[in-house]
Amino acid sequence: MKARKRVVMIAHDNRKKDMLNWATFNVGTLSRHDLSATGSTGKLLADNLGLPIHRYLSGPLGGDQQIGAAIATGQLDLVIFFWDPLEPQPHDVDVKALLRIAVVYNTPMACNRSTADFLLSSPLMGETYSPFAHID
Ligand code: PGA
Repeated sequence: MKARKRVVMIAHDNRKKDMLNWATFNVGTLSRHDLSATGSTGKLLADNLGLPIHRYLSGPLGGDQQIGAAIATGQLDLVIFFWDPLEPQPHDVDVKALLRIAVVYNTPMACNRSTADFLLSSPLMGETYSPFAHID
């Protein structure tokens, strides 16, 4: 992956406020990368951050599956996925598939805010990196 990362952001409804707070705090860093998101998350972020954000479908309507396919075809570098651990989701199978495919492709993925902070502040965010260079 290049120094300019392709970052996708997904937040379940109860985590959208958390995502917006995180993204607002990190807007400077995020502005140096190519951003995308699921439908409602993307609209919320684009309206508040003033950054261009490519929008996939809403998660429950196929957005998670689109993102999984984008990971599998090498079109995304980093996933920020604030999923809700306290509420059942109608698209739980899609959520599980997305989590699985991100692990299959060794894609950096943060599922909570502190992990997202550690990821975004990594020196690797500004460097090229091969996710498969260290795998036998
Ligand atoms: P949304 O999708 O951003 O369109 O709400 C996220 C999800 O619920 O998976």
